[in-house]
Amino acid sequence: MVLPIVQYGSPVLRKKGAKIEKITPEIKTLIADMFETMEANHGVGLAAQQIGEAKQLTVIDVRAVTDRPSTLELDGKPAEVASIMPLVLINPEVTPAGEMVKGGEGCLSFPEIYADISRPGIVDVKALDAHGNPLAFRCGGLLARAVQHETDHLNGLLFIDRMDKKTKAEIQMDLDALQAETKAALAKK
Ligand code: ZN
Repeated sequence: MVLPIVQYGSPVLRKKGAKIEKITPEIKTLIADMFETMEANHGVGLAAQQIGEAKQLTVIDVRAVTDRPSTLELDGKPAEVASIMPLVLINPEVTPAGEMVKGGEGCLSFPEIYADISRPGIVDVKALDAHGNPLAFRCGGLLARAVQHETDHLNGLLFIDRMDKKTKAEIQMDLDALQAETKAALAKK
């Protein structure tokens, strides 16, 4: 089922996600719905907060993006990025493992807002997969960016928090307008 995406201004986007202790049938349904919702909106990642659930759960799939490469290492050896796609990360922990790199980012909760953000270019990731099994890998490029963007969501952080002052100032009017629109829509409910 394609779910409505929560937009900037909604309080749930600022909530830290609760850890998932058990992969229940409800969590499995949530994962399937999140993939459907992400694909319907042509996103490369979606966090549970973005469909209104403050949980440590995100889905990622970078395969549709051909002009921004990703890298993957499993057990210290290069591996095919596609081999871990589509990717479900539960309770993820991300550790920087490379220099800061600037790159363009958007977010399904911020329609039509894009900006350059600096993040570590390589990260180590530990998480549970969709079956609750431990997962560990090192990644770079777009995948590293997506993992960090989505893990931020799970902690109530947004990409606007990672923008430099000048970049944020340039889009501040758009952000204020979006926030006001979301709050007005929430007030009507
Ligand atoms: Zn986002």
